[in-house]
Amino acid sequence: MSYSSVFVKLLTLQCLVILCVSQSFDFFYFVQQWPGSICDTKRSCCYPKAGKPAANFSIHGLWPNYNNRSWPSFCNRESLFDHSKLSDLSRMQTTWPSLICPSGNNSKFWKHEWDKHGTCSEFVLDQHQYFEETLNIKDRVDLLQILQNEGIQPDGRNYSIGSIEEALRRGIGFAPGIKCNKDASGNGQLHEIYLCVEKTGSKLIECPVLPRRNCAQHVEFPAF
Ligand code: AMP
Repeated sequence: MSYSSVFVKLLTLQCLVILCVSQSFDFFYFVQQWPGSICDTKRSCCYPKAGKPAANFSIHGLWPNYNNRSWPSFCNRESLFDHSKLSDLSRMQTTWPSLICPSGNNSKFWKHEWDKHGTCSEFVLDQHQYFEETLNIKDRVDLLQILQNEGIQPDGRNYSIGSIEEALRRGIGFAPGIKCNKDASGNGQLHEIYLCVEKTGSKLIECPVLPRRNCAQHVEFPAF
């Protein structure tokens, strides 16, 4: 074998290793949000064209993450979001609504999630699989039902963050991550719930690391 062909082989191997390393991640965060806590903020919200979404937790996204708390993003600018590939997933309209103004445009929200997060797991899940697996996980855990079973309702009252966490841990079987935001008057409220999913997108797992919590001891669970 000539020196040049050995060199080309080594170079190819090095490129493959770099590609694999840059494409890997450790687990997914599956993030759901409470719409009431988006709409009663200072910046308020805008509903999608179909109208006000159901009073239920909705999907924010499925995010590849590393065990060291960092995450990859925008991994392939050439992988264009194609709405037509999702035509059989019409339930996205109700379970994954856009709520951010001005547009209330679901497709724009899904494109953002694909561009920023989905492209980083594309070597495991193609675009259709990425959205379908996310919907499938959502179908398997009914966060609102789990909370309501323990008397925690979206009724504008304050609940201890410990009771919310414990109710979810009992109902799901794994400890959740919890994030809070502030309503228009500055009161802390339940905003997003993070669950962890193994790399193929099919199974819930115990979180290798939980996102840092930013909630007070007691938080509001606003109506929607
Ligand atoms: P991400 O970029 O996916 O990590 O999440 C943060 C971004 O998602 C912010 O720009 C938010 O404005 C946006 N976002 C969060 N929830 C929604 C929603 N329901 N509809 C549209 N955009 C959202």
